Amino acid sequence: MNIALIAHDSKKELMVQFCIAYCGVLSRHNICATGTTGKLVSESTGLQIQRFLSGSQGGDQQLASSISCNEIDLLMFFRDPLHPKAHEPNDANLLRLCDVHNIPLATNIATAEALIHALERGDLDWREYMH
Ligand code: PGA
Repeated sequence: MNIALIAHDSKKELMVQFCIAYCGVLSRHNICATGTTGKLVSESTGLQIQRFLSGSQGGDQQLASSISCNEIDLLMFFRDPLHPKAHEPNDANLLRLCDVHNIPLATNIATAEALIHALERGDLDWREYMH
């Protein structure tokens, strides 16, 4: 499965902790991420991550393009709804594309944990037949 990660600045530590906790599951899949999120996660977990550009440089648009091309099976987008920064990616576009392409999406850790357990059980394997 192709799993994409992206976290706004105030949620990056949460993303790192999440990936440390579920490193075993994640290591069995292909992971991609926006630049800084991917760097922090790979440094702290040792996971191999395909890194797009940083969000501020267009990495979110590269990710949007991958979603549109049906290359992503699951998106974890930890966003900060309270203090969005001007340079941070426009979340509405990514969320919209997930809905257009029927991509499972977590925007908070509670949903991310539910999805990762579903992934572990194989509940999302049907997505591989969609490629
Ligand atoms: P980053 O992109 O992972 O490169 O920081 C996401 C963001 O800008 O929030």
